[in-house]
Amino acid sequence: MYIKDIFAQRKPVISFEIFPPKKDGSIEAIYSTLDGLKDLKPDYISVTYGAGGSTKDRTLEIASLIKHKYGVEALAHLTCITSTKEEIGTMLSQLAENDIHNVLTLRGDLPQEADFEFPNPLHYNYACDLVKEVKNRGGFSIGAACYPEVHPECDDMQKDLDHLKAKVEAGADFLITQLFFDNELFYDFLDKTKAMGINLPVTVGVMPALNKNQIHRMTSLTGASVPPKLARMMDKYEHSPEALKEAGIAFATEQIIDLLSWGVDGIHLYTMNRPEVTREITMNISTIRDYLTRN
Ligand SMILES: Cc1cc2nc3c(=O)[nH]c(=O)nc-3n(C[C@H](O)[C@H](O)[C@H](O)COP(=O)(O)OP(=O)(O)OC[C@H]3O[C@@H](n4cnc5c(N)ncnc54)[C@H](O)[C@@H]3O)c2cc1C
Repeated sequence: MYIKDIFAQRKPVISFEIFPPKKDGSIEAIYSTLDGLKDLKPDYISVTYGAGGSTKDRTLEIASLIKHKYGVEALAHLTCITSTKEEIGTMLSQLAENDIHNVLTLRGDLPQEADFEFPNPLHYNYACDLVKEVKNRGGFSIGAACYPEVHPECDDMQKDLDHLKAKVEAGADFLITQLFFDNELFYDFLDKTKAMGINLPVTVGVMPALNKNQIHRMTSLTGASVPPKLARMMDKYEHSPEALKEAGIAFATEQIIDLLSWGVDGIHLYTMNRPEVTREITMNISTIRDYLTRN
């Protein structure tokens, strides 16, 4: 099923994100992750695409597993910056052959030491170019990324929003946000997108804070701000993984309840391949989810 049709049918749409095991790691590990997620009834599960396409075969294999073995709709992430147009064409054909018809079209991060020129006529240089290509091919529901706190390479919110609008006009069907911890910033961002006529479903990427170093890595990479309440919590419990897990689950639950009360289209939980955490958060909002789905 196309994910754009899932958004048309129900609200909120609840989805999960997993990542493939490293190249030399066993694929078996992903079975226990998926075993732990499937009965939480996600509307779809997405699989990331390792930086520079490092996991592309695994992304395809796992997306296929999600759809055909677990019976859950799959969303394959796809980044274009380090691949030629021809390689991207092959990947899209393989996705279609495996009956995967939902793709998150991304540029990917620019590699530190690229062995190619940027921009490059042999590559799709921005996600917008990839969206156009996927739209022209047909047969896919197209997701794209958006950045409530501005993409770190862009020095101006309005410019970043113009680039987002270009992706929407090129054919994106739905948007997934970069992680953030301050909902008010997201509500301001949505006001701006709506004022520009961007009316696609927007689903919110939520990452539970379970490890202070990991959150610091992510926030320095993405530019997401850390509210004082979250910083306090991580400082207080950083030396007790179990205490921080409990607090991180509570923080994510509270963040999601506020987003759902506001009326967001969907929640996309970064599972970090820890199904027990995703389970607790999903169970914490199960009555709210049922209520909102019925009303
Ligand atoms: C939900 C989500 C999932 C992700 N999954 C993955 C993943 O699986 N694998 C992975 O490697 N990375 C992933 N990323 C990270 C993503 O690849 C990076 O954030 C990347 O740097 C930008 O990708 P994009 O698709 O947003 O790029 P774009 O939309 O192309 O934007 C990139 C930058 O270029 C600017 N820009 C856009 N168009 C133009 C233009 N025409 N001229 C000048 N500047 C322009 C934008 O303002 C922005 O600063 C994900 C990000 C999100 C939010």
